[in-house]
Amino acid sequence: MTQRPIAFVTGGSRGIGRAAVVRLARNGYDIAFCYHAREDEAEKTAGAAREFDARVLAARVDVADAAAVSAFVRRIEDELGPVDAAVTSAGITRDRSLAMMSDNDWSAVQRTNVDGTFHACRAAVFGMMKRRRGSIVTLSSIAGRYGQPGQTNYSAAKAAIAGFTLATAREVGRYGIRVNAVAPGFITTDMTETLPDRVWKQTQPRIPLGRMGTADEVAELVAFLLSERASYITGQVLGIDGGLVL
Ligand code: NAP
Repeated sequence: MTQRPIAFVTGGSRGIGRAAVVRLARNGYDIAFCYHAREDEAEKTAGAAREFDARVLAARVDVADAAAVSAFVRRIEDELGPVDAAVTSAGITRDRSLAMMSDNDWSAVQRTNVDGTFHACRAAVFGMMKRRRGSIVTLSSIAGRYGQPGQTNYSAAKAAIAGFTLATAREVGRYGIRVNAVAPGFITTDMTETLPDRVWKQTQPRIPLGRMGTADEVAELVAFLLSERASYITGQVLGIDGGLVL
């Protein structure tokens, strides 16, 4: 039996990360994913991936903790095998106007989104470089491109992730590793559930497709970018936003 490729997904318990796990399992990957606290949701994700015969390794790992992320990647390589694909979906928001932004609101968002992406990519890329193959997709956002009022912390983090992705793509392309970011607009997940009605009412008329996107639609793009069908695509930040232009 041929070995299934292995995907490592951060933030796989819910939202876009979960949809990516399930989509990749359906596409024939074995899966390792981490989450922060929601074990109940992580079990649902793992169960959904196993329905596609995937081997699944799920663990509670804070992506802000560099040592824990490295240890998890070593465990994946020991228990499942070499990581072929990585998706960094773990992310949080702590919305506040700039004048009211606490140091904690600022740094929590940088630690999870930016440091978390760095920790996961650094841990995964080492083995990929040795094997001279691999593909990475990070999660940026439309907020990182155009800025979102009330989200200076998050917009800064998502712009940082875009820059990180481009630099990494330049650095590791010669090892046969592709690195891309997706930049979703408004996607229906727990993260956007708390979106004030006022913001959605202002935003909807600016979305040519007139609706929010789904996590499955983002997962489809993530899976495409990871696959051989995207074999000449690297260093891109791909919008998936229903045409929203701020
Ligand atoms: P979500 O539904 O809130 O899910 C967030 C996921 O990240 C959960 O699995 C959560 O684990 C995990 N997580 C949070 N902090 C973590 C930490 N410190 N360590 C490990 N895992 C952690 O969010 P989402 O909407 O799917 O967003 C996924 C990514 O897409 C994020 O990077 C987000 O910024 C980006 N994005 C989302 C949208 C959107 O409209 N939804 C738009 C643009 C970009 P627990 O379940 O254990 O809490």
